[in-house]
Amino acid sequence: MWGTHPESQPPPALGRKPDGTGEVSEETASSLLLVGEQLEDLTGLEELLAPLRHPVHKVASWSEAPGALLDESLACILVDARRSWSVGLELARRLLSYPHARYIPVLFLGAHSCGVADLMRGDTLGTVDCLLEPLSPDILRLKVGMYLEQHRRQALMRAALERAEHAEAVARESERMLHTLLGNVPGMVYRSTTREPWSLSYASQAALALSGYVAEDFMEGRVSWGELIHPEDAPRVREEVKRALAMRSPFTLTYRIHTRTGEERWVWERGVGIFGSEAQALEGFIFDITSFRGAQQERERLHEQLEFQHQRLQAILQQLPVAVHLAEAPSGRTLNFNAQAEALLGHAMLPCTCVEDYAQYHAIHPDGRRYAAEEYPISRVLATGKPQPQEELLYDRPDGSVRVFLINAGPIWDAKGKLQAVVASFMDITALKRAETHQTFLASVSETLASSLDYEATLAHVVQRAVPALGDGCTLDMLEPDGSLRRLAVAHGDSVRKEISQELARHQPLRLEDPTGPGAVTRTGNTELVAEVTDELLVRYAKNSRHLELLRGTGITSSLIVPLHARDRTFGALSFFYCRGGQPRASRRYGQEEQRLAEDLGRRAALAVDNASLYREAQRAVQLRDDFLSVASHELKTPLTPLNLKLSALSREIPRCCDQEPRAQELQRHLEMARRQLRKLSMLISALFDISRIAQGRLTLDVTETDLGEVLGEVAAWFAPEAARVGSKLWVEGEPHVPGRWDRLRLEQVITNLLSNAIRYGAGRPIRARVESDGARARLVVRDEGIGISPEAQDRIFGKFERAVSDRHYGGLGLGLYITRSIVEAMGGTIRVESRLGQGSTFTVDLPRSRQE
Ligand code: ADP
Repeated sequence: MWGTHPESQPPPALGRKPDGTGEVSEETASSLLLVGEQLEDLTGLEELLAPLRHPVHKVASWSEAPGALLDESLACILVDARRSWSVGLELARRLLSYPHARYIPVLFLGAHSCGVADLMRGDTLGTVDCLLEPLSPDILRLKVGMYLEQHRRQALMRAALERAEHAEAVARESERMLHTLLGNVPGMVYRSTTREPWSLSYASQAALALSGYVAEDFMEGRVSWGELIHPEDAPRVREEVKRALAMRSPFTLTYRIHTRTGEERWVWERGVGIFGSEAQALEGFIFDITSFRGAQQERERLHEQLEFQHQRLQAILQQLPVAVHLAEAPSGRTLNFNAQAEALLGHAMLPCTCVEDYAQYHAIHPDGRRYAAEEYPISRVLATGKPQPQEELLYDRPDGSVRVFLINAGPIWDAKGKLQAVVASFMDITALKRAETHQTFLASVSETLASSLDYEATLAHVVQRAVPALGDGCTLDMLEPDGSLRRLAVAHGDSVRKEISQELARHQPLRLEDPTGPGAVTRTGNTELVAEVTDELLVRYAKNSRHLELLRGTGITSSLIVPLHARDRTFGALSFFYCRGGQPRASRRYGQEEQRLAEDLGRRAALAVDNASLYREAQRAVQLRDDFLSVASHELKTPLTPLNLKLSALSREIPRCCDQEPRAQELQRHLEMARRQLRKLSMLISALFDISRIAQGRLTLDVTETDLGEVLGEVAAWFAPEAARVGSKLWVEGEPHVPGRWDRLRLEQVITNLLSNAIRYGAGRPIRARVESDGARARLVVRDEGIGISPEAQDRIFGKFERAVSDRHYGGLGLGLYITRSIVEAMGGTIRVESRLGQGSTFTVDLPRSRQE
């Protein structure tokens, strides 16, 4: 039997799968190749082999290329040499010349006649076996089956070999990869002892970057890791490693090391104990986290700073005297607010997540309508990005009071100009507004009261103004001389209730003896304040059922009654009411503030009443005085004319009868003095007489052709001795003749007054009087260089009884300039003064030369 070919080796690539893994499954089908001269011979063989259930290929022609069939799946080639041993040999030789077929066993089927020599010829072909006729199908199948089994085992061996090769390649690749990874890991990979000083038996190349020592320094024992650990951190590192080892769990550490150059670094280590029966080593990674740590510290610092700023903002918000509300943009979600906000609103802040939620707040319009969500200042800033400054808003608090808030709302932009949030600050200006309203009300009421002496009309007006400033309703009841009370005025925001109020006064007239109400207030002069008018109170107050019905109809909820009291007299009472369903207000009850205001108003109203009655009394007194002056001056004047005549006669008699008398001259001087005093007395009485005539509008003029220049000359001549007596020089200047149509005597009176004043207040200095004309007008100017008149007095001195000097130093009634002005104005002219204290005065009279009567 031919044996196995000595060079027989498994073909290298046999059974390799396309994926290169080389695995061959046991099910891989091994096939058989039948080669022979006659196809029918081969078919017979095929049938014999069929029970083996392996694919059989048949090649019967030389021309057929068997190369394609000689693949790795062939378990055996059967060469049918039964017809010709030589042909079979040749056929086998050719087959085996194919490189693929080199290792495929060949089974020759020879004829019975085949001798040993023939068999030996086949020995050179390698893996060759032989079966001779007569062929036993069983032997044939046994033999071929053996090859098939051999083929299967070879395939399995090859696959196992390839797997081993592959595993080795994978292991080599893994090792290479591990080295690459370890070399490139940003931290150091190590293996160390389980105790200090943590000597490293392995350190990756990153040791250098981490510590400044090359890996070999550690591995060759020149330095240990423990030496590098910061002394302050070393105990902690020791403890934590110990604990992890005890629990057989990994450990994670953060600590400081000192590098070879002494630099301090933060490292992060993750390690685990390697155990046999006990801990043998530590393995792990160590990373440099200095920069990360720095960033972390910076982040912590920034976080702390942020936290601090947040706390500071919170503290500021809480300390602010104003309420603050911060909303996110664009949602409107509430981000922040302070305690003052809730205190002002009178309820907790609402959990708003969007603008629509603002509708739940209680801002109202002056007519009581609720604000829509988008009407709030914050909503408008959210919508437009524009600040909404200094806005007043009414807020209907849950406690029933309506407060006035002053709101400022503005946008908060980020660095990119995006609206981030909206902040609104608001404060309660209710008291301020109320004080302002009260002040404005008082000021305007005072103006009204001062505007007229017809106090009934002004008080009725004041009552109208008191609504709504001081209540929903107001009434005024005045004390009449007969002791009854008269309802002078009623004001009400509601016309039906106004009617009820008037009806009430008619149905149940007020009396001074009433225990409460306007009568009692007028009687006692004390304010009556009922903060809350209850129905029980009305029931007690009502005189009968109709009265009660009317009282209830008024809807009064709070009342305040103040007296009109001035100079120990009470003139009546002002009553104020709040009623159900009235205007929205900060408070619907009267309190001390309203009481003070109402009492102030009552005093002012009383003063107006008092002033009006005083004025009436004064007018009566003035009338009496003027009547008296008129009568008295007339009576006083009557004896003056005969007295003057008598003095003239006496003056004429003296030279005739007593010329020789040594005292004649002295008598003449006395007489002259008496005549001067008589003239003065006459002027004073004339002045009084004129006053009463002016007061009665009876100053009549007797207008004739008159020469102003001439009149000035004459009057100046009369005053020359007087001026000389006080040391003043009297100059008459200007045009000697200025004719016009005037009352000559009245002109004399004007010039007399001005010249006598110039002499009296001229301080003995020169006096200049001049007359000039300007077409239709004539001008008289009297100038002195005397004491002058203060600016304050310059207007006043033309009034009745007005004087700018003290009575002790200068006598006079203060009537001269008043009469002068009255005369000048009666003649259609004007008079004015220019003066400086201590530098003299200039009086200028302008007169039309002829007047249209
Ligand atoms: P009487 O001189 O009687 O006081 P008048 O009506 O003539 O009253 O003058 C009013 C006041 O005007 C005087 O009291 C005086 O204070 C002031 N007055 C009038 N004329 C002069 C003047 N020429 N110089 C300074 N003061 C004058």
